Parts: sequence; C-alpha cells; structure tokens
Amino acid sequence: MTFAIHGLAVARGIAIGRAVLVASSRVDVAHYFVKPQEVPAELARLKKAREAVQQELQLLHDNLPKDAPPELSAILEVHLMMVQDTMLADGVSSWVSDRLYNAEWALTSQLDVVARQFDEMDDPYLRERKGDLEQVVERLLRYIKGEATVSTVSKRTSATKQQDLQLGDAMDVPLVLVAHDLSPADMLQFKQSVFTGFITDVGGKTSHTAIVARSLDIPAVVGARTASQLVRQDDWVIIDGDAGVVIVDPSPIILAEYSFKQRQAELERERLSRLRHTPSVTLDNQRVELLANIEMPEDAPQALDVGAVGVGLFRSEFLFMGREGALPDEQEQYAAYRRAVEGMKGLPVTIRTVDIGADKPLDRTPKDEAHLNPALGLRAIRWSLADPAMFLTQLRAILRAAAHGQVHLLIPMLAHKSEIEQTMALLNQARQQLDARGVPFGPLKIGAMIEIPAAALSAKLFLRYFDFLSIGTNDLIQYTLAIDRADESVAHLYDPLHPAVLRLVADTIAEAKAQNKSVSVCGEMAGDPSLTRLLLGLGLRSFSMHPTQILAVKQEVLRADTSRLQAWAQSVVDSDEPALTMGV
Ligand code: PEP
Ligand code: MG
Repeated sequence: MTFAIHGLAVARGIAIGRAVLVASSRVDVAHYFVKPQEVPAELARLKKAREAVQQELQLLHDNLPKDAPPELSAILEVHLMMVQDTMLADGVSSWVSDRLYNAEWALTSQLDVVARQFDEMDDPYLRERKGDLEQVVERLLRYIKGEATVSTVSKRTSATKQQDLQLGDAMDVPLVLVAHDLSPADMLQFKQSVFTGFITDVGGKTSHTAIVARSLDIPAVVGARTASQLVRQDDWVIIDGDAGVVIVDPSPIILAEYSFKQRQAELERERLSRLRHTPSVTLDNQRVELLANIEMPEDAPQALDVGAVGVGLFRSEFLFMGREGALPDEQEQYAAYRRAVEGMKGLPVTIRTVDIGADKPLDRTPKDEAHLNPALGLRAIRWSLADPAMFLTQLRAILRAAAHGQVHLLIPMLAHKSEIEQTMALLNQARQQLDARGVPFGPLKIGAMIEIPAAALSAKLFLRYFDFLSIGTNDLIQYTLAIDRADESVAHLYDPLHPAVLRLVADTIAEAKAQNKSVSVCGEMAGDPSLTRLLLGLGLRSFSMHPTQILAVKQEVLRADTSRLQAWAQSVVDSDEPALTMGV
C-alpha cells in the first residue's frame, strides 16, 4: 500500500530505490555486500553459528538446576525452536543469496521482517515472543562476532563503524538508506558507497549530517520521525529531496510521475553545468566570489570542476572524526592540508581549525559530556584552547601547508576578546616552534567566524585583530534563536529570515565593508539561491557553499543588478516580517 512520510528537505533531487534499513539491533554489526562467489562461505558462517547456538541452548536447557523455575525451561525451548525455525533461517539465507548482504546484516534484516509479524499478532503472549527472537538473533550475532558474553551493546542504529557498505559486484538495483540516525562521520563514508538517497528519523536542516548529505548531492530527507519503523527492508521508496517527502511502495502512476521529475532535474543540472566557465559577475558589473565548502582534500577537484575560485571553508574536523578518538598528528594533518592546497592549483584555501563538539563529537567524547548541552559546551575554538598541545599541532600543520600556496586560517565560534588573544598567542608560539625546528612555513591571512550573536555585535573589535570575517549562519541562527539545529522538533522555528538574524548578518557585512576588510558567508544561507539577491543587496560579494550549489547561485548572480537590490534588501531587513517577494 502506498503511503507518504513527511520530513525535512535537506538535499535536492529525486531518488528511487529499494530501502536498505540499517539494523535496529542492539549489537553493533558490520554492513557490507559480499561478492557472489563469497555467498556459500557466508551461508556456511550462518550455519555454523546456528549449530553452535543450538548446542549452547541445548546444553543450558539440559543442565538447568532441578529447582529452576519451569518458565526458564520453557523459554529455552522457545529459543531452541526459533534457532531451528526455517522462516528465520530461510529468510536470512535469501538476504545473503539474493541481496548479497553479509551474514550479520542478513540476520538483522530478517529480524526486522519477523519482528514486524510478531507486532501484528493479536495474541499478547505471541506478541511478546518478539523479545525472545531478538535475544536469539543477538546470540547468533555474538557468536559470529566471536563474543562470548553480553558486552558491547550499542544503541546506535548507525551503519558504519567498520569498512561497511562498499559496493559488491553484482548490485544493479538502486538502493536508498533508511536509518534512525547517522553521524556526520558515517555520512562521509557514503562518498564511496552505493546509495542513491537516504532518510533518517532525526536531524535538522542544517545538522552536520544534512550538510554532508548536501555535499554528496544525493537526495535526502531527515527528521522523518518514524521512517525507520514504517519502511520495511526492500520496500520500494521514492525520496523527494526538494519537498522533504518519502513515498513508500509507490503505485505505477506515482512511480512514472517521479521518474519524469527525476529526468527533468537531470536536464536542469546539465543546463546549469554550461555556466561552469562563465565569470560570476552581476548585470551591473559587480564581481562576486563563489567559493567552495569542503570536508576533505579529495573534494578539491569537484570544487574546481564547478568553477569555484577557492575554498572558503575547509571543515578540518572531518580529518579528526571516525578514528576511534585517535587524533591525526602534525605530519598527517600537514599532508592533508597540503593536498587540499595543491588540489586547488594556486587558488586560496581557507582552513578552519577543528570544530569538534555538539553534533560532531569525536569518538572519544565521554558519553556524560555528550548529554549536557553540547551546542553550548566545549566546542570549536573552546575545545582547541582547552587542549593547547592539540591546537598547536594543528596550527603548525596549517602554517607548513601555507608554504605551498595561498592559505587562510579561520577560527570558529569565537566570542571573547580573551579567546582571540589566546589564539593569536598560540599562533605565534606555533611559528616559533617551527622556526626552532628549522621547518619552512608560509604567511597566513587570519579570519574569524561570526557565528555567535556576541561576535556579530562585536564585529568592530574582531576587525581590529582579523584580516577577514566569515559569517557562519548555521550557528548564528541556532544561537540567535535558541534553536538546536540538529533537533527536528524545533526545525520549524529555524528561520534564516528572522529579523534578528538578518540584522546581525547585515550589520556584520556593513562593518567589514566600512573597514575595507573582506567578509563572506559560509553557512547554508550562502548556497540557497533564493537568498542570493538578498545577500547581494546587503553588500555581500563573497559566498562559500557546497560545490553542488555553486552553479545555481551563479545563475542568480548573473541575473542580479545590485544597484537595484540595495534599497530592497534594506527594506527586507527593516521589516517585521521579512519576505523575499517584495519589490524587485
Ligand atoms: C556555520 O555555522 O554556518 C558554519 C559554516 O559552520 P558549521 O556548519 O560547520 O558549524
Ligand atoms: Mg558553525
């Protein structure tokens, strides 16, 4: 039966494919595709696990003390029946044979299928047997994992801690990933994966998971609440990334309509790609700098490909994530920054120092800390200043990379004068350390991110210290409106056009221009073509965004006449209820 689920539109386009549900098992399992020739070995692993667990249960049953309650014996008998049950075994085997899932993934997929059948049963006694089934599957998983005891229990429904989800040889069906939640680090792994779209239950429009999805340019819907419970393994689903809608089990007519939309979107992309080499200049001859936001040095070619004139934001924290908390050393960081600099072939690269914390935790962040108020806690520059040795390592690596090309250094989440001064002092110390070691390094332009209202209101002070400002609207909106950007339940209040937000953005741009310093916007507002004219009207001439958004924004720039936008933009900012339809 066809039904729709509504969430938040975060990455544009239409994806049509079969659902791959990332396990809801409490055991953290690997997910990957096996090669067709590996299927017999995978089935053998399952058979062996089944036999071993059966033996284990039989032994437990036979050795029950005489005074054990009779229920215990009955439960073990139920478990024994379940291990031998063909519905479980056959189902699991077909996930492996037909879909090429690895053994663990096949087990959790079949668990999902059978668990739903239990949920639908009228008899409460039978319904409760679902818990037994989960225990049996968990036992099987632990056997496969080589674990003897109930130890590593992870509640995350995350796909990927391991190598996971790489393409097997024979998969020709488009696949769409459905999960309760995915971390930004998990998302990064999808750069090499097979998924043509993804859906998560949680997340906001500018959560980092959504941001990475946008950079992958695959349709995505987040904040879809119960999607991972409503969608079943292997269901056909359509993701409408523009509308934030997921259509499950579509009828042939709906499918045809969306296939048509999908083709239209591809044509539009092709049309935009013709603007790649067109200089980004407005009708009244204002040159507008369109820069790229990147997460990894390997993103540089994509940035060049769409005509970016530099990198306006390299989110260096992605080098630090997904590595079990082990930090990259100076040499590794230097090599990565250098790759980005050389990859951009002489164009400037703005490297932001780590912005760890909030919805980008390191694997080693203690769980208790994660439960405080992470967006207001030890995040970004606060984290760096709390660990000077780590920060110095990063600063040295960036300074060294600056010997190979134009590098700008960008500091996130500053609010206090004392933080600025400590940062500058550590930067000097990093230079002295390199001097002492006789290691070459290059000059840097130094910029501050304006992403806390206090920073926007102190732009004058910031400009005394910095060469440039970069407005991080994602956080500026979050902190101005007190809206957790990762929380879908308040996503409707996350409003880039709130008068207070526009005032802070407008005033920061005006202050930088008054002092003849450069200013850019590197938050998601910069990549939203519906906001391009407004930002141009406020005097912005430098925009940094995902490479995938550059051409659509360029199209807006080419059609704009800034001399006519100025008064209109000012009136939008001054309005109680700013709207983009007024005037021009
Ligand atoms: C921002 O806050 O707007 C920004 C660009 O930084 P991030 O999204 O990485 O927090
Ligand atoms: Mg930010």
